[in-house]
Amino acid sequence: MEPGGTQDGGGAEGDGATILIVEDNALNLKLFSDLLRAHGYAVEGLADGREALDRARALRPDLIVTDIQLPHISGLELIERIKADPDLAAVPIMAVTAYAGRSDEERVRAAGAEAYVSKPISVVRFVAEVRGLLALAQGSANPPVRRE
Ligand code: MN
Repeated sequence: MEPGGTQDGGGAEGDGATILIVEDNALNLKLFSDLLRAHGYAVEGLADGREALDRARALRPDLIVTDIQLPHISGLELIERIKADPDLAAVPIMAVTAYAGRSDEERVRAAGAEAYVSKPISVVRFVAEVRGLLALAQGSANPPVRRE
């Protein structure tokens, strides 16, 4: 059952967007999934980053949220592989990592991620970044054409 109290003003906030989450920590995966589902997004979670490329190709998510510290493939490598795949390169990526240092953020962005959120996450910032990335992606799918 929906809590109901936040339904009045928002409409369909998630707007049917599908988000693939790659996170090996079960508690974090549940936290991110519950949070995004509560905001109306369709969510699929993966604990094993080695499955992420195949899942992303099949699912065609609107956004990928990935941990950086993954056991079998680093999140940085995963981001680079996604961005190197012509079918997936346009999918925005939000990296979530326990590191908060400036150089870590630079590495994440250099790998190709569009956003970076450090753990422990701020719920407000997490959702705001997701919204921003999806809005940007929707905007670029219909770019304004100004030829005059
Ligand atoms: Mn991890």
